[in-house]
Amino acid sequence: MKRIRLLIWMVALATGMAAQPVQVGIFQDHLVSAAVVYCAEGSYQLFIDDTKVTILEEGMNLYLTLEDGRVKVLDSYRDFGYATHVELRAFTTDAFFRIEPVQPALEPGVYDDDLLITASDRFLTLVNEVDMDKYLAGVVEAEAGTGARSEFYKAQSILCRTYAIRNLDRHRSEGFSLCDQTHCQVYHGKSSDNPGILEAILETTGIVVADYNYRLIIPAYHSNSGGQTQRASDVWAGDADYLQSVVDPYSLHQPHAKWRDTIAFKDWKAYLLRNGMKSVTKLPEEIIYVEQMRRKKYFILDKDSLRMTRIREDWGFKSAFFDMFPDGDSILVWGKGYGHGVGMSQEGAMKMARDDYTYQDILQFYFNNVRLMDYRDLPASSLPKALRDR
Ligand SMILES: [Zn+2]
Repeated sequence: MKRIRLLIWMVALATGMAAQPVQVGIFQDHLVSAAVVYCAEGSYQLFIDDTKVTILEEGMNLYLTLEDGRVKVLDSYRDFGYATHVELRAFTTDAFFRIEPVQPALEPGVYDDDLLITASDRFLTLVNEVDMDKYLAGVVEAEAGTGARSEFYKAQSILCRTYAIRNLDRHRSEGFSLCDQTHCQVYHGKSSDNPGILEAILETTGIVVADYNYRLIIPAYHSNSGGQTQRASDVWAGDADYLQSVVDPYSLHQPHAKWRDTIAFKDWKAYLLRNGMKSVTKLPEEIIYVEQMRRKKYFILDKDSLRMTRIREDWGFKSAFFDMFPDGDSILVWGKGYGHGVGMSQEGAMKMARDDYTYQDILQFYFNNVRLMDYRDLPASSLPKALRDR
């Protein structure tokens, strides 16, 4: 497997197709002030305040500690003194390192390519500068697991690439492009459990989804649509031509296609009353239940209405696509799908891939009137500042 991956890399490099690097702020949910870095594979050049000082061979450790706004740098044998900025630059394309924060003590992570460390008064800014496609492999593994087909990974990674490129300016003022939390896209580091993910991504390198005006789309996706995706404007404030509702048979009979819940009838009634539905007290009980053969934007009672997404949020339901049935003093809630329902259903897309559809088929099915194209062919006005400045 390793040899195949290396071969794909060599072809990618030879054809000038290697993706651009992206700077990801790591361990962004903590203020890290000390860490140990281990060169897990390949050797690294160590730069201290822009001066190359040594080479760290495979198997060597580097110790970084914040002291008075500067970072103290040691390896197992040498003291490199203090610095403001430290860089570990990989010598080879398959190099990776492990980093373990020790203050606070956190689970270590393994990352491809380079590590940049900048000291500030209270913490170290840790940035993984990594090839975009390797970053996407880590994101896709975190977001979608390891057991799916290649065409699904291509579709998922194209959405994650579209998201990454749209948001490259997001953390500019902090010294990196994207964070590793849900605020941007969850990234735990190197994709390690399925080499097929990176291979699928390399086969579609550079490809993003644009609308008909050559603007990057909002690449929404969710776990399971329940059989019909949700129009964007039914969930969020804005509407988009490409985020319309589609009937989605591929999501039926998948792991998260259905869910059930039970709530007390008196709680439901009190809830509706609290939300301004005064007619609840006058109307016959048999009509104050929700029924959705197809997705509805509102639950309407007499002249009052309540958004289905609001009900989902308030009751913690898995989706806004559900029916209710009376059952004595209780209400049975029978739901469909999991997530906000907008854009691509991951489980539906996995099913399409198993049915031999291509990633183009998958994306064109879930997104209306979109173009799949290389982001380098987009007009400059469609790109973030980080790419326009290059
Ligand atoms: Zn972020």
